[in-house]
Order: sequence, then structure tokens, then C-alpha cells
Amino acid sequence: MKVAVFGSQPYDTKFFDAANAQGGSPHELVYFETRLRAKTASLAAGFPVVCVFVNDEVDATTLKTLAANGTKLIALRCAGFNNVDLKTAEEVGISVVRVPAYSPYSVAEHTVGLILTLNRKLHKAYNRVREDNFTLNGLLGFDLHGTTVGVIGTGKIGMIFAQIMHGFGCHLLGYDAYPNDDFIKLGDARYVDLPELFSQSDIISLHCPLLPETHHIINQNAIAQMKRGVMLINTSRGPLVDTVSVIEGIKSGIIGYLGIDVYEQEETLFFEDWSDEIIQDDTFQLLQSFQNVVITGHQAFFTQNALTAIAETTMANISEFEEGKPLTNPVKLPH
Ligand code: NAD
Repeated sequence: MKVAVFGSQPYDTKFFDAANAQGGSPHELVYFETRLRAKTASLAAGFPVVCVFVNDEVDATTLKTLAANGTKLIALRCAGFNNVDLKTAEEVGISVVRVPAYSPYSVAEHTVGLILTLNRKLHKAYNRVREDNFTLNGLLGFDLHGTTVGVIGTGKIGMIFAQIMHGFGCHLLGYDAYPNDDFIKLGDARYVDLPELFSQSDIISLHCPLLPETHHIINQNAIAQMKRGVMLINTSRGPLVDTVSVIEGIKSGIIGYLGIDVYEQEETLFFEDWSDEIIQDDTFQLLQSFQNVVITGHQAFFTQNALTAIAETTMANISEFEEGKPLTNPVKLPH
């Protein structure tokens, strides 16, 4: 099938071409660097399949243009689908598929990377040694062994993260709307309510989905309950955290370390090169200015293993649609 791949980066081309070459009847992939949005939707004229990523804007106007030009399937190359207007997709007869799971190890391991970087100040040490400055002042860390780690969301990624931290010798506190026994079985792990997790944890890591009930789960009230000097890590979704309250928490010293791979307003920044521009987001710039904050640009998923799995599942999703088979990974409105 003819597939218009929007927002494509060189790594998408590499992994999608490789996955496409494996199948019996390859699809015709055409890559567009531009993101899909109302203004660019006409580029997909004549393409029955449109492939998109997290920050493409698949809103009502875009979907109507796509439908009028013959598109029948939106293939998301990610798990989240908050950027697709599912109601309009249904109305205009466009099916939607996604990649519900790829490598949970990728995100869990990046989370641990942020913790180690912040604790041992590797971001500072790297620059210092490059300048032939071998002093240690300001680089003091702490043993992770024996600390208490709060895991909010003990699903696929949260469980692997918990296993790794258990390996370091940490005590684990979990919070989940749907607790699972495997977390308890790790040993030295128990479920608690959020106030206890906030007040007892030395490190708090977010691994729950973004839902109305989890939006700003880290807010001013939550931060007020935390230990002074707590380390806060978010590799899940930006709006789980009220950024303005977190900045206040850093300035007051309650939050001693912040590691984020996601940011509330990331749509306007991430996955693009702004190095020749002036960033207009003052909140982001303020966050960047703190020496105890490490930010990565939504790269936690970015491993060879995850990209291979994403490309293979996306190709399989498209082949199923082409062959008229039942879809394994549909995204539908709850009826
Ligand atoms: P998952 O569905 O396996 O686990 C999510 C867990 O959150 C589940 O155990 C669920 O019961 C729990 N949960 C649901 N509602 C909750 C609530 N109100 N409060 C607390 N917990 C709640 O998902 P996963 O594969 O582990 O992914 C977790 C999150 O990681 C995703 O939602 C996504 O936002 C994020 N993610 C980030 C990246 C990245 O590159 N940074 C990549 C993939 C996923």
C-alpha cells in the first residue's frame, strides 16, 4: 500500500525500510519531513495510509482533508493517541492503529540513567574534565543502596524500573490505580497511598499514563508533602507535572534534583533543532538554568530494539489492514 510517513527523521527511514524489506509484499513508503497538520494534509492525497508520530496534529480538519483525498488508515508509530480526534476519524471512515508496546526496557533504563546522572553529577563532571579541571568540589553524590524509591505506576515500564532499583538495594514504595502482586514479590516493596509515597521517598519516578485523574499528579500540594531534597523523575508524560509548582519546589529546596524526558509544552520544542533560534518558552529556559535539573528531549524510547519493534509492528498493522484481516492494534472510541 502507499504510505505517507509524516514527521520522518533519518532514523525512521532506516528502521522502516528495514522492516518493510522483511515482509512478503512491501509497502510503498514515501517520507515527508514535515509534520502532519491541517496545512500539510493535502500532501497525503492518493495515499490510503498515513503514518504519524506523537506530535503530529490529527485533528478534525486534517482528518476531513485526508478522507476527502482517499486516506483510509492512520497508523500511529507510537503508543499514545491523544493527538488523534477519534470521533471525527470514525465519522469520516478512517481506521486508526497504534503500537501499544515496544521496549519497556528502553524507558526504564533511561530513567535510571537520569537518576545516576543527577546523583553523581555526570553532566557537570563531563564538562569539568574536558576543561582539565579534576577537582571534586560540588560533585558529591549519595549511595542509591538503602534509599527509598517511590514508583507511581507499576505497569510494564514501572515494573522494570522497580526491578532495576531493587537490584541497587533500594526500598520500594509503589502507587498504582490497579496494584499487581509482581511488585510486592520483588521483595522490600509495598503499595502505599500517595501521601505516604510523597513523604517517605528519596526518589520519586512517574510511570503512569496521562489521564484526567493523573494530570498534574505532581502539584504544589504533592510537593509540600515531599522530603526536603527529593529527586523527582518524569519519563512518562509532561502534563503529569505542574511545571510552575516544580520550579517553586526547586527554588525552595524541597526538590533537590529534577530529571525529565518529557515536558508539559514539548510539542513546540522537541524533535526539532532550535540551536540557531531564540527559545521563546521562558518556563523551559528557567528550568534549563538550574544546575540540579537534567532534561532530555523525549528520547527514553530511543533504542535500536524499540525502533525495530515500532517499525515491525507498524508494518504488520498496515499489512493486516490491506489484507482485510481483523486489526490487532486498533484505537477506537469507547462505546
Ligand atoms: P502500562 O499501561 O503498562 O502501565 C501504566 C501503569 O499505570 C499501569 O499499571 C496502570 O494501572 C497505572 N495507572 C493507571 N491509572 C493510574 C492512576 N490514576 N494512578 C496511578 N497509576 C495508574 O504503561 P507503560 O508501557 O508502563 O508506560 C507508562 C507510561 O510511559 C506511558 O503512559 C507513557 O506515558 C510513558 N512512555 C514514555 C516514553 C518516552 O519515550 N519517554 C515511551 C513510552 C511510554
